[in-house]
Amino acid sequence: MTSPSLSAHSVAGHASVLVEARHVSQSYHKDSTVDLLVLDDVSLTLRSGEIVGLLGRSGSGKSTLLRLLAGLLAPTSGEVVWKGEELKGPADGVSMVFSSFALFPWMTVEENVALGLEAKGVTGEERDRLVQNAIDLIGLGGYENAWPKELSGGMQQRVGLARALVVQPDLLLMDEPFSALDVLTAENLRTDLVELWSEKKLPVQAMLVVTHNIEEAVLICDRIMIFSSNPGRIAHVLTVPFTHPRDREDPAFRQFVDHIYALMTQRAPIISEADLAVGVKQAVQATPSFIALPLVSITMMIGMMEALAAHPLDGRADLPVLAEKLQLELDDLFPLGESLELLGLAELEDGDILLTNDGVHFVLSDLEERKAILNHALFHHVPLVKMICTVLDERPSHSTNADRFRSALEEVMSPDYARLTLQTVVGWARFAELFDFDEEGDRFYLEEAVSE
Ligand code: ADP
Ligand code: MG
Repeated sequence: MTSPSLSAHSVAGHASVLVEARHVSQSYHKDSTVDLLVLDDVSLTLRSGEIVGLLGRSGSGKSTLLRLLAGLLAPTSGEVVWKGEELKGPADGVSMVFSSFALFPWMTVEENVALGLEAKGVTGEERDRLVQNAIDLIGLGGYENAWPKELSGGMQQRVGLARALVVQPDLLLMDEPFSALDVLTAENLRTDLVELWSEKKLPVQAMLVVTHNIEEAVLICDRIMIFSSNPGRIAHVLTVPFTHPRDREDPAFRQFVDHIYALMTQRAPIISEADLAVGVKQAVQATPSFIALPLVSITMMIGMMEALAAHPLDGRADLPVLAEKLQLELDDLFPLGESLELLGLAELEDGDILLTNDGVHFVLSDLEERKAILNHALFHHVPLVKMICTVLDERPSHSTNADRFRSALEEVMSPDYARLTLQTVVGWARFAELFDFDEEGDRFYLEEAVSE
């Protein structure tokens, strides 16, 4: 026998849960033989009253997860439960905001905002009232009849927000909503949004914000999920211990941001693009010669080492500080740090990056000496380079077709990634004068005798 009070309790307990992903996986069909596993066994719960952030590198499946939660895509396995029922199509009560704004250029601000309501069959005075409310709320008053192209990026995104809010959705999904805006505009809009939320003026129950900006996530969210890549998984979930409004200069805030940087570097995948086929992970581990490389240029590496070595960093920096100094996004910074670490020129430690002795030596050296240091580092730390050198060395012609290496790489990674890997390695090897590549003949050839 079920006790009535117990079931009432469980209904009340469920009332605050808006959406749940239960063991959701998503693969995209790639070609006839392999599927690309983008999300692997992702489970999460969003409740009303919270702003949740989703942090991860590009390609880690964040946009895919949003589409799944909105019911725009059905998961390959697992299920999405919206207000207690399995989602079988677009969820009623979810709105989305995109970084591209996605406005219709031939419609005025007012018409763009009204779109969502028309789809719901709301017309006439009710429609006009709701549209005007949304426009006023988001600070677009006076712009009702403007065309999108007449507006700044910031104002265009306000239209995107008004259009999402006009239907008074339960859940607002935002996919990198501020990433197309300049720093100040983004800051403005972010602050306005958080303020409206804190004052309970936003007609939404919960928000999920995708971003690859760590500071932004810590400024906005109550809870942050950190995604790892290849395939996308939830690697960490953190509760943000600050109330709004937040002060980014507060040492505790800085420390929290640092902590996330540290978590994300710890989790840094060897392959920095979600471009691996299903089942390939084991193969990569089993074949150390073909570990995929971070795809960064030697020029970028040198730039980073020089910035690190210079005063006031003096060889060691907080990653967020370095990112700001170099004006780099995370997606660029992490592969750079990883490549320097791979080559033994820097180390990552607790969200800091520091030059090793070899790294310091490199920065202090002239060009010839730098070439020699890199030559040594590549040969000893990058098995693919050693393998290419060895093959070239054995050949009387000191040259060989690039195809053999490409095919070998394609055993464990996608053709695209294999091509980019070879391109990256050629760039490094050229600088170090280890070997070169003739594009026309698609051949590798030896620059001079391989050292050691
Ligand atoms: P994120 O938003 O984190 O950058 P996405 O969810 O957009 O990641 O994409 C994750 C991976 O899935 C990427 O490698 C992307 O190329 C791939 N992908 C996304 N959408 C599709 C699709 N419709 N078909 C095939 N592959 C896709
Ligand atoms: Mg995306």
